[in-house]
Amino acid sequence: MHEHSLLCRPSPTAANDPDLTQKLWPARVQATLPDAAETMGLFGHWWCDMHTGEWVLSTGAASALDVNAGLHRTGASCFEQVLPDDVLALMAVLRQLREAGPAIECEFRIINEFDGLRWLRLVSLPQAQPGLAIQTGVVIDVTSTRLAAMRERFCFESTQFLIGAPTLGESVTKVIQLVCDNLGWECGAYWALEQEQMGDHQLACQYEWHKRDYPLAAFIRQTAALRLAPGEGLVGNVWRTMQPAWVENMATDQDFLRRKSAHECGLQSGYAFPVSYVTVDGRRHSHGVLEFYSSLSRQREAQLPSLSATIGALIAQTVLRIAQQELIRQLAQVDDLTGLANRKHFHHLLDAACLGATSTGATFAVLNIDLDRFKLINDAFGHEAGNLVLHEFAQRLQGLELEGCTAGRLGGDEFAILMAPGQTTAQLQAVGARVLLAARMPFLFERQELTVSASVGVSVFPDNGWTGSELMRSADAAMYRRKNGGRNGLNFFSDGTVENLAEQRSTLAKQLTMEAELHRALVSNEFFLEYQPVFDRDAEHMVAVEALIRWRRQNGDIVRPDLFIPVAEQSRLIVQIGRWVVQQACRDLAQLHRCGFPDLQVNVNMAAPEFVNASLPGELMAVIEACGIAPHHLCVELTEGLVMKQPDKVIPVMGALRQLGFKISLDDFGMGHSSLSRMKKLPISSVKIDRSFVSGLPHDRGDGAIVRTILDLGRHMKLQVIAEGVETDAQLIFLRQFGCTLIQGFLLSRPKTISELMAAQAHITSE
Ligand code: C2E
Ligand code: MG
Ligand code: MG
Repeated sequence: MHEHSLLCRPSPTAANDPDLTQKLWPARVQATLPDAAETMGLFGHWWCDMHTGEWVLSTGAASALDVNAGLHRTGASCFEQVLPDDVLALMAVLRQLREAGPAIECEFRIINEFDGLRWLRLVSLPQAQPGLAIQTGVVIDVTSTRLAAMRERFCFESTQFLIGAPTLGESVTKVIQLVCDNLGWECGAYWALEQEQMGDHQLACQYEWHKRDYPLAAFIRQTAALRLAPGEGLVGNVWRTMQPAWVENMATDQDFLRRKSAHECGLQSGYAFPVSYVTVDGRRHSHGVLEFYSSLSRQREAQLPSLSATIGALIAQTVLRIAQQELIRQLAQVDDLTGLANRKHFHHLLDAACLGATSTGATFAVLNIDLDRFKLINDAFGHEAGNLVLHEFAQRLQGLELEGCTAGRLGGDEFAILMAPGQTTAQLQAVGARVLLAARMPFLFERQELTVSASVGVSVFPDNGWTGSELMRSADAAMYRRKNGGRNGLNFFSDGTVENLAEQRSTLAKQLTMEAELHRALVSNEFFLEYQPVFDRDAEHMVAVEALIRWRRQNGDIVRPDLFIPVAEQSRLIVQIGRWVVQQACRDLAQLHRCGFPDLQVNVNMAAPEFVNASLPGELMAVIEACGIAPHHLCVELTEGLVMKQPDKVIPVMGALRQLGFKISLDDFGMGHSSLSRMKKLPISSVKIDRSFVSGLPHDRGDGAIVRTILDLGRHMKLQVIAEGVETDAQLIFLRQFGCTLIQGFLLSRPKTISELMAAQAHITSE
């Protein structure tokens, strides 16, 4: 009763008056005070009057609770520094103490600006005198034990997050949340280097977590937008020094770049530390920086450095592990050059698709894509150009964004697409068309446009194969059939495809070899021109020469154009060859003009790919101007077939050339079955009777009739008619008799080099 009455006589100032408090304390209790332990600040006593609810705190308890020692009118004033999150639970325990007076034990956290976060344990002691209204107990600072346990739990939990996590983002975000929840921070972020376009490195926020009920939008926005050079701002500094750093007042710290938004959001202090670890050989692996911010003005907390070192090291190791896993996956599944699935992985996926479709009854297709003439690019422009084409083509395939489909590179210039199940033939054809277009668009290598095309073969599960390898074989066969039937197209597998596959491959291989050789020939000047004269009716006057290309291989063999022009035409290499021919022929003509053939005309043969080009008239104009010859000195020879195949494209170009004053001759005339009515509309200046009709003259009545008709037609349409391939006098006489005015053939002259032509002229003049 006595003790009770003592506590019942509190003075309003008792809590602040140690003397008075001393007086109020029961002498017996005072005698038991373990002063030495208390002074260490880790431990203190408390007394609570169950009737009045008043408390008395010893110096140690008061220092632990960060309040004054002595008498407190209410429990609330003893516990005013307790972390808001823990207050409710603590109050419930205190209520329990007052109501039932049982033994209590609970833990809560205190936070203040100087010591940061601490953990305290409140324990009641057994009553010395049962029935007494005073409950007593101790407060113990268990921060170090808690931190040790927490570090262990932290390590455990974060390891859980980090070990199993498939992505770094997911696991790091969870770790940030774990730290915020346990250490009382409002938000946290992970920064790492990102490579800028110019090759500079900058730190950018990669992942963040913040308390949803705290208004941090402005700060999070600024964090997301910010890029920091190493050494710049808090994060940049931590990155450079690899040392943790505090910011005690975010709003006023001039080095803290986000102070404005931090202030707006009520954030006050923060802590940032490196995500790095040092291996046994002493090498530091640095991956990023973690930062945490609080709305409290927290100061350096002793426990943070060791905890952050643990977390930093854990995350750093996870970054490394995930990077290594990704590398292993890449090596095992991804094609180095293109980033597509590699052959092995593609086959694996294909086999899995076959298994899946067998059980579900679905159908799906696989596309085998082979680039046409890729070898040539490699041979002529080098591997770098080849790699560029492969890489760029792979990007284009991925850019098609085919949902549920996987693109792979099977090796070399061979690609494949595993299609999503259930596509119709029309859909497959549409995809094929997009793939073909992707291949046909020019590739830019060192400011040079490289053109390829693709041949695509399609096979369908289960009709063309039940297993991955069967399906691939079928798609491969369909692709080869396409290649042989003219590239740049798509074929579906059909049963006949497999026949002649070996034969087709070898023809193709020969053709490809020649293409590569032609590329080289162009680069190393292996082409030259011969000129075959065209004479007037009396065979006296040379009115024109036809430029005929020849290829002198490095071993000295001369290859005739019939053998290589068709190959060049298929590869579009003909365009480059054609340009060379025109330039060379015009240069030579200018020389012939100067050397005794003042008004000579040159005829140049052109193939479809070089002619179907709206800029051709302009290009030809530039060439003749550069050589100093007039447009009417240049005659372009086109075959009838070329004109009739693509009249819409060819005729406008012909018209434009004629307008500029160039001449156009229809070569090999009579072979192309062109209708005479159409002939009338063609903007041409001459026709050349094909050699095959001339060769039958004068005895073959059919040939004779045809030649006569062509000559009549020429007269009627005011076109010049040239007979080519004239080998005998009899042929010449026949032609003269029916009015043919221009003659070309071995009888009068074989094709000659320019020097032979000039030498002959010199001989004539000297005579
Ligand atoms: P073409 O335009 O009909 O050229 C005439 C061909 O007939 C030439 O063969 C010429 O040598 C040959 N020829 C001329 N007179 C006689 C003769 O009396 N008897 C026989 N048996 N043959 C004669 P060449 O030089 O082998 O050229 C073959 C074809 O190659 C040319 O036929 C032309 O279509 C093509 N060609 C030649 N040079 C070029 C070129 O620079 N560009 C293009 N695109 N094609 C060319
Ligand atoms: Mg010709
Ligand atoms: Mg001809």
